[in-house]
Amino acid sequence: MRIIPIPCLSDNYAYLVVCESSGEAGIVDPSESAPVSACVKKEGVTLKAILNTHHHWDHIGGNKELLREFPGLKVYGHKSDQARIDGLSDGLDTGDKFQLGSLQVGALHNPGHTTGAVSYVIEDCVFTGDTMFAAGCGRLFEGTPANMYASLNKVIGGLPETTRVYFGHEYTENNLRFAQFVEPDNTAVSEKLAQVKKARASGAFTTPSTLGDEWRTNPFMRCESEEIVARVKQEDPANDLQPISVLGVVRRMKDSF
Ligand code: ZN
Ligand code: FE
Repeated sequence: MRIIPIPCLSDNYAYLVVCESSGEAGIVDPSESAPVSACVKKEGVTLKAILNTHHHWDHIGGNKELLREFPGLKVYGHKSDQARIDGLSDGLDTGDKFQLGSLQVGALHNPGHTTGAVSYVIEDCVFTGDTMFAAGCGRLFEGTPANMYASLNKVIGGLPETTRVYFGHEYTENNLRFAQFVEPDNTAVSEKLAQVKKARASGAFTTPSTLGDEWRTNPFMRCESEEIVARVKQEDPANDLQPISVLGVVRRMKDSF
């Protein structure tokens, strides 16, 4: 398998996933069609499928044009998003699997950012859209803190620590600054922030992360950290400080960071 990140719009990533034995490929979250079709041509692969992580325009914006340019493409997304994802042909839910050439793709339903958010698992990689970012998570547009807690900590968090995490936006540097704000003594955060600043200064992408890195640096996966709990108590003295409530407050703090 080869994975090629394609920067789209101002800070989105689409990912071309290539099965090297068959030359077949899928595109995760084509925000726009032009950079995707250019990449498909350059790589000389056969585009077979669109894998949408959720229905937001900055993740499906290229669907219609790609369907015109590559007739017969399968379009995958959550089964509840039939009316919201252009061209959806195969609605999925947790546990559903499909083939991309000889690669097996598994779906995980992880609501929180939207009700129909899904991640795709291929070999030791997961494509998380706007559910899990490096050191962050998406805003709770249609879900609750309990949804996002379960999606990050149980569903995606159930994968091995070595799993590579391919996320939907280049927000890593800002996310780590916030992580440092809520957990200043976390040295994994300060070390990763230094690395990421250097990478961004040279124009490099910060994708992928790993699940191990996320357990160490992502405040939304560290709701039992004493430092974060103390920070939340300061912010909201009446809070019950249960992990889900902690995530809710941390998310609110991030919304206005
Ligand atoms: Zn989104
Ligand atoms: Fe997005």
